[in-house]
Amino acid sequence: MQVKKVLREFNIRPKKRLGQNFLISQHHLEKIMKVTNLSRNDVVLEIGPGVGNLTELLLENTKKVISVEKDEVLVEVLNQIFQSNKKLKIIKGDFLNINLRKIYKTEKKLLKVIANPPYYISTQIIEKLINERKYYKTAFLSFQKEYVQRMLATPATKNYGRLTIFTQVYLNVEFLFKIPKSVFYPVPVVDSMFISIRPKKVTKVKNENGLHIVTREFFCKRRKKISTILKNSSMLPTVKINRSLSDLNIDPNSRPEELSVSDYINIANSLN
Ligand code: SAH
Repeated sequence: MQVKKVLREFNIRPKKRLGQNFLISQHHLEKIMKVTNLSRNDVVLEIGPGVGNLTELLLENTKKVISVEKDEVLVEVLNQIFQSNKKLKIIKGDFLNINLRKIYKTEKKLLKVIANPPYYISTQIIEKLINERKYYKTAFLSFQKEYVQRMLATPATKNYGRLTIFTQVYLNVEFLFKIPKSVFYPVPVVDSMFISIRPKKVTKVKNENGLHIVTREFFCKRRKKISTILKNSSMLPTVKINRSLSDLNIDPNSRPEELSVSDYINIANSLN
């Protein structure tokens, strides 16, 4: 599909507020199709189809495509371009309000999620993919490069933080390839990375709320010593945490960014 030509034909100006940066490189679209290895049995949920450049390829290679698009104007365009295609269901709406369980129940099949989504909702998308992880098999997404680096970070680096911990507790993330900003229109400020996400079958977390509280309180002072944070926090059960630090052989003089993902799980679990 010639994206720029379609945009001209329908007289569309990309909307910044909806994160509209269209992928105009056929080479990269085909690369996406290759690495995702989708098949005729797959039911695909697409976030933000835009003018349908990826949708077109998905329709050729899968059983069914459900595309959720927030921009009413683009929904009209998609309806015109794909009107005769029975494999495509276009939902006008916000992906964040879509109930994945419901779609899964209707389709009777674990979904594959795919998107070059708007980056301003990256964190909400990840939260949703964590919360509704029972209803899809794999999600393939492009995100801002720096965002992916935070998801995949290791302890004691500047990228390591709450996003890293929540991602790695619940999801297996694999980096697939880079997408340079030059292949988007309009050209964004940031480069992208294309990744796959597979929900972990089991997690060791027994106290999800505890994990939220501990990571939040610790990481808003990531450079401070844990002992200092505990002394000054009114939100944390200091005595319990001190006991669990000593049970787990964690030095209270270490800093939040030095603890591993399993350290955090263990601390949270001990607060039960
Ligand atoms: N996938 C297309 C478009 C990417 S731009 C391509 O690769 O070219 C991001 C798309 O997501 C736009 O079409 C935008 O309108 C849509 N969008 C923005 N916020 C959304 C939301 N909350 N739910 C669904 N779609 C959204």
